[in-house]
Amino acid sequence: MLKTGAAALGAGTGILNGPPVLEAQRTQAPAQAPGLITGTQTGRSFRGLVRHGSTLDVQEMRLRPIDPRQVVIRSMAVAPCYTIVRGALSTNPAPRAEVPNHCGFGVVLAVGPMVKRVQVGDRVIVAGTSQCGQCYQCLQGRPDYCQFTFFSNEQGVEPFPPFAQFPDGTPVYAQAGIGGMSELMTAFEEYCVPVFTDLPAAQLTLLGDQLSSGFAAGHADMHFQPGCDVVVFGAGPVGLGVVQAGRVTGAGQVIVIDPIKYRRELAMKLGATTTLDPVAEGDGLVERVRELCRGPNDRRFAGGVTWGRAGNAVMGRGADFVVEAAGLQAFPPKAEAQPDPTNVKTVQQAWDCTRMGGHVMLMGLTLQPVSFPGTSLALLGRTIHPGQQGGLHVMRDIPRYVKLVEKGIIDAQSVISKRYTLDESRQAVQDTADRTIITGVIEFA
Ligand SMILES: [Zn+2]
Ligand SMILES: [Zn+2]
Repeated sequence: MLKTGAAALGAGTGILNGPPVLEAQRTQAPAQAPGLITGTQTGRSFRGLVRHGSTLDVQEMRLRPIDPRQVVIRSMAVAPCYTIVRGALSTNPAPRAEVPNHCGFGVVLAVGPMVKRVQVGDRVIVAGTSQCGQCYQCLQGRPDYCQFTFFSNEQGVEPFPPFAQFPDGTPVYAQAGIGGMSELMTAFEEYCVPVFTDLPAAQLTLLGDQLSSGFAAGHADMHFQPGCDVVVFGAGPVGLGVVQAGRVTGAGQVIVIDPIKYRRELAMKLGATTTLDPVAEGDGLVERVRELCRGPNDRRFAGGVTWGRAGNAVMGRGADFVVEAAGLQAFPPKAEAQPDPTNVKTVQQAWDCTRMGGHVMLMGLTLQPVSFPGTSLALLGRTIHPGQQGGLHVMRDIPRYVKLVEKGIIDAQSVISKRYTLDESRQAVQDTADRTIITGVIEFA
């Protein structure tokens, strides 16, 4: 997910220009929300995990006034994303106080006067990507690149002003304008997806980012086909979403590659047909995958291994769909380590595992440049799909995924390894970094 990068991109569509105003008192409380607090929440005290100075700990804050298009949400559950651990646990001094993460789940307490999408009392998933419906990208059918998320910083304007402050007045920001790891969060309505279900908060929060991104990779963007061969690098919460997309599609094979044994075992439970340890496979990994995908024999229609070479590479069939959901290794884990912590080699292997004419999606973060042979890039016909939330259209897809979780078709429960209180939230981030859990969910009292 690119939200961390989006935050770093900086500022300014102009939406936030001008002074913030107090959120409006709603004149009529919605029927589904009797007894909930309505009206202004400005000045309200709350607690949250804050990265400030060189530390990450739970702090007391007060809410600042919201923008006319923002929503105040009482958090119910949040799952820290691996993308944020590198910054959250850094020992370098933070440039500003910030509540980490970029998704969450809770109940709407108040809305700004221009908000239309949600009402007070709604249960909302705050997704890592917006869907404004009005920008060029949304109008081209690509809300996974909604311009509301991808602010430009040409004007040097801070896109998301601080949403809270410490008792001494020091401003507190929310990472990517969302945060999530605090009792109260604010979000622009474009990120809010109201959901109407009795599913538990701990499962719903996974649909704001990790699990829904993985599932979307297979259905919202690449369109897995029944009987196809799917390869997934990385069996974290994103990769396990891809695995489930393969299972739901009726993929012929779902081959999962992860060095961590307990993750491979969970992948088998959730729909993998084969798992491979990339450390044990070593340099033979790609050939092993191609062997698994070669078909029943060498006849042409089966895509056997004897139909040619490109340079030194055997052009056996390869997988129809490959998803790289491993990402770089931000810290040495307490579980089994990745063979390449930079993830560069993994991206190249994902490309190499894909058949000619096949599809590969790159979802994990890789900070180093990645090179591909130019001739292969031009001639071997692999389509590279960008992995920003797996192509998720949050307003279209998340309500669908809620139904699939309700029906037991998507298993969200199995992806939750451990639950934490807010006071234990730093440990949740640490465990995420250590890769001793798939997903840790912080539940708010
Ligand atoms: Zn994320
Ligand atoms: Zn948009």
